[in-house]
Amino acid sequence: MAKNLDYSRRDSGAKVASNDDTQRLMAAGQRLAAEVSRLFTSQTDIADRHYWLETMVNHVPDYIYAKDLEGRFLIANRATVVDNGFTEMQELVGKTDYDLHPHDMVTKTAETERQVIETGSPIFGMEERAFVDKGYERWLMTSKVPLRNKQGATIGIVGVSRDISDRKKAERLMLGQARLLEMIATGTPLDKFFNELILLIEAHLPGIIGSILLLSEDGRHLLTGAAPSLDEAYNAAVHGIAIGPKAGSCGTAAWRGEPVVVADILSDPLWEDVADFVRPFGYRSCWSTPILSYQGKVLGTFALYSLKAGLPSAEQNELISMAAHLAGIAIERRQSEERIQFMAHHDALTGLPNRVLFDGRVTAALQQARITGQWVALAFLDLDNFKLINDTLGHHAGDELLRIAAGRMLACVRKSDMVVRVGGDEFIILLTGLPPDSDIVTSRLETIRAAIGAPLVLSGRTLQVSCSMGVVCYPDHGQTATELLANADSAMYRAKEVGRNNLQLFDAEMAAKARAKLLRHEELRDAVARGEFVLHYQPQMNLKTGRIFAAESLLRWQHPERGLVSPADIIPLAEETGLIVPIGDWVLNQACRQNKAWQDEGLPPIVISVNVSARQFRERNWVSRVAEALEESGLEPRYLELELTESLIMQDVGAAIATMHELQELGVHLAIDDFGTGYSSLSALKSFPVRRLKIDRSFVQDIPGDADDMAITGAIISLAQKLQIAVIAEGVETQAQVDFLRASGCHDVQGYFVSRPLIPAAFAALLA
Ligand code: C2E
Ligand code: MG
Ligand code: MG
Repeated sequence: MAKNLDYSRRDSGAKVASNDDTQRLMAAGQRLAAEVSRLFTSQTDIADRHYWLETMVNHVPDYIYAKDLEGRFLIANRATVVDNGFTEMQELVGKTDYDLHPHDMVTKTAETERQVIETGSPIFGMEERAFVDKGYERWLMTSKVPLRNKQGATIGIVGVSRDISDRKKAERLMLGQARLLEMIATGTPLDKFFNELILLIEAHLPGIIGSILLLSEDGRHLLTGAAPSLDEAYNAAVHGIAIGPKAGSCGTAAWRGEPVVVADILSDPLWEDVADFVRPFGYRSCWSTPILSYQGKVLGTFALYSLKAGLPSAEQNELISMAAHLAGIAIERRQSEERIQFMAHHDALTGLPNRVLFDGRVTAALQQARITGQWVALAFLDLDNFKLINDTLGHHAGDELLRIAAGRMLACVRKSDMVVRVGGDEFIILLTGLPPDSDIVTSRLETIRAAIGAPLVLSGRTLQVSCSMGVVCYPDHGQTATELLANADSAMYRAKEVGRNNLQLFDAEMAAKARAKLLRHEELRDAVARGEFVLHYQPQMNLKTGRIFAAESLLRWQHPERGLVSPADIIPLAEETGLIVPIGDWVLNQACRQNKAWQDEGLPPIVISVNVSARQFRERNWVSRVAEALEESGLEPRYLELELTESLIMQDVGAAIATMHELQELGVHLAIDDFGTGYSSLSALKSFPVRRLKIDRSFVQDIPGDADDMAITGAIISLAQKLQIAVIAEGVETQAQVDFLRASGCHDVQGYFVSRPLIPAAFAALLA
């Protein structure tokens, strides 16, 4: 190819040569042009780039600079030069931060720069306080990288800092708001909260002073809420000012219920009357916004003062509404808390203090009396026949009566005394600072009784209401509040016993009775703890087959001194104290366990019946307790029968039937005990899911002598047969009774005729 080319070149001759020259010239020219252009552009480029770079660096508002190893400025952009107080860069070059700023501010910066130089690794995005504050606190976000020469050795640092004060400020405001909300949530006292709120706003708006005023209860005045930075004398003068159409910024804002912006206090007509007073303080503008409740009710005002005349900026306006809003939430929260506190300590109907407040007061009163030697009196007061009025005149009249009675009692006592509503128509009166004289005590309380007894009008009728009182005096009738109240209760019991409408002062006889009762309660409680109870079992027999098909479990108390105590002496006491619940639980569990044990011994299976008291039956988890007793003992439900009384069922027929159905679903059987002695409605009987009626012993015992009892017994038997309910006679002792029952169609009996209640071993022997 090259050869050909050469040849062709030679071959082309002169003509070709001239073409060649032109081409060569052109090529040379092009090369030159390119070279010149390259040269030219690169030179302009460097100069321009340098210029552009400089311009760029000087136009950014950020600080950009380089320092040598000793922290001396090597180069810096315009912002750095100017903000350090110079006009030319040369003035800054060679200086260190120590030459420019207070030492203590500089040390931390010098330290980080030293670190960058020593480690050779950069630091990015560090937040730091600016040396130059421009009249407000400034924050910078700074990055520093090592400055290296061509050989890669570190010869200083390059720093870039950006002003992030606005972001910082916004962040702080948000944090502050969060803290304020937390204070509201944790119920911080209002004055503390207000101070914090104002200090937050003031920190955010330099030169601005905040103030919170609260509307007084009468809704006509403003009271100091918080204004930590306003002059104290000024605050004192503002406290209590009347709101109105021309009452400065706040007074007017509260009056109008809308923001009032006063740009110049000294010339605004709203401030006309007080301008001379304000002048010496130097406050010039005041922008106030009402603090509103959720429903828009004015609660107070939030205002910003400035020493300069002018209108608020958009940011300031925003902060004012934010602050007013938060203050509103805080005030409302406190108000609802106060309402809750009041409700927790007072009776809603009469407004009287309740038991909670009373308990605190009585303790304090006793302590006081211990020191002064004066007496304290406590009276239980019960309105006589209140239920009757409630039932005949209606609940409204009843409520009205309670309010009237409360008002009359209050009118008779001193401020240091207390009237408390403790229940429906029951009150306690606490009298303090009394001379040690029971006549004086009773005469003061008789005054109250007389006041209550005065005629009153209810539902258009004039009537008179009497009351009963049981009274105790400290120190004679007890040392503690509990003791005094228990004794007042005994005295009240007495007052009712002797026919109501009277006052009973506690005395020794009542004290003895009360003490005995208390002792018996304690004894029974101990018996439960010590497990002194046993069960005896009485067989139930079918006369036709002679088979024992069931046993009733009967409670006995194995008393350490008194021997076996009968349930008649235990059950009423246990019901009174609530001990029937644990005792009843024990009976149920023990009876189930015993029956299962007999079955496990291989004895013929029988039904075990357990007596249930009303209080037990009403326990909310009663059904599940029965289920537990069965599960724990392993006894099949069909071998358990629960004896309920008519009165237990009749207390609340609906609820009783529901519980009975639940028990039936468990698979246990139900019997009505002592049938015929209660007042169960025969129509309701149909709907009771019971398997058995137990004819009460009182009807059986006079058979065959008493014709009436025989008639009743016969009637119960045929009623049971009609309703297809099984029937058993209790307390069967004689052959004559057995004959009568058999003839009447009752073949199941329980009584001494078959056997007395037996201890478990004896019963097992009988069964075997
Ligand atoms: P109740 O359920 O009617 O029990 C029958 C009572 O009659 C038992 O008296 C029994 O010993 C007695 N009795 C049985 N056969 C005869 C007889 O032929 N002649 C005579 N005169 N009496 C007979 P007890 O054991 O003194 O029980 C009295 C009441 O105490 C029971 O009457 C029952 O209402 C209650 N009770 C007994 N144990 C408990 C219990 O564990 N819990 C509950 N809540 N009450 C119980
Ligand atoms: Mg019974
Ligand atoms: Mg009975």
